[in-house]
Amino acid sequence: MTAYIIQPTSYIMIILLLGANLGDRTTILQRAVDLIVERVGSIVKQSGLYETAPWGVADQPAYLNQVLVVETVLTPEAVLNQTQVIEQELGRVRLEKWGARVIDIDILYYNQLILQTPRLIIPHPYLHQRRFTLVPLAEIAPTFVHPVLKKTTLELLEECEDKGEVIFFNSPKTSPFG
Ligand code: ADP
Ligand code: MG
Repeated sequence: MTAYIIQPTSYIMIILLLGANLGDRTTILQRAVDLIVERVGSIVKQSGLYETAPWGVADQPAYLNQVLVVETVLTPEAVLNQTQVIEQELGRVRLEKWGARVIDIDILYYNQLILQTPRLIIPHPYLHQRRFTLVPLAEIAPTFVHPVLKKTTLELLEECEDKGEVIFFNSPKTSPFG
């Protein structure tokens, strides 16, 4: 008798934050989502788009932000490689830290992993300080627990002292397949 061993593929849930504040922001976000599906993994959940006041450097246009839950088989470093290539392909020009850019893709969470390398810090070090991250995150992952702070998104949002405006902009374009 032959025994078949089926190797389970281990899918990892990651949460990404997208931000755009130059050009046709909605189209750029949609193109980023399409490239993420192609190269990182399938979208499990997608928040609405939120318009948010710029953070860090005030003299720049408002951002559109969106949070995605993505299922991937990639390592954290491979996710960062892919998202950085996507940023470059979508014409990101980085002029200054926290300055205006076509698209920014940050890794908020990688399952419950805690990672600190020169290139990559997970959970994202600023996520709990930024309403523009916590508000869309609360829409799709309200009970997700931050592995370091041991608090849910809703708890982090309640405690967040950032007063920056985050306004619902619209729902993501739905796919023709529903
Ligand atoms: P910011 O997102 O802070 O506005 P950048 O997008 O230019 O700035 O990111 C600067 C660097 O942050 C990247 O080169 C990347 O190596 C590093 N980095 C560290 N942790 C993360 C993370 N969780 N997600 C994305 N980039 C990260
Ligand atoms: Mg970034």
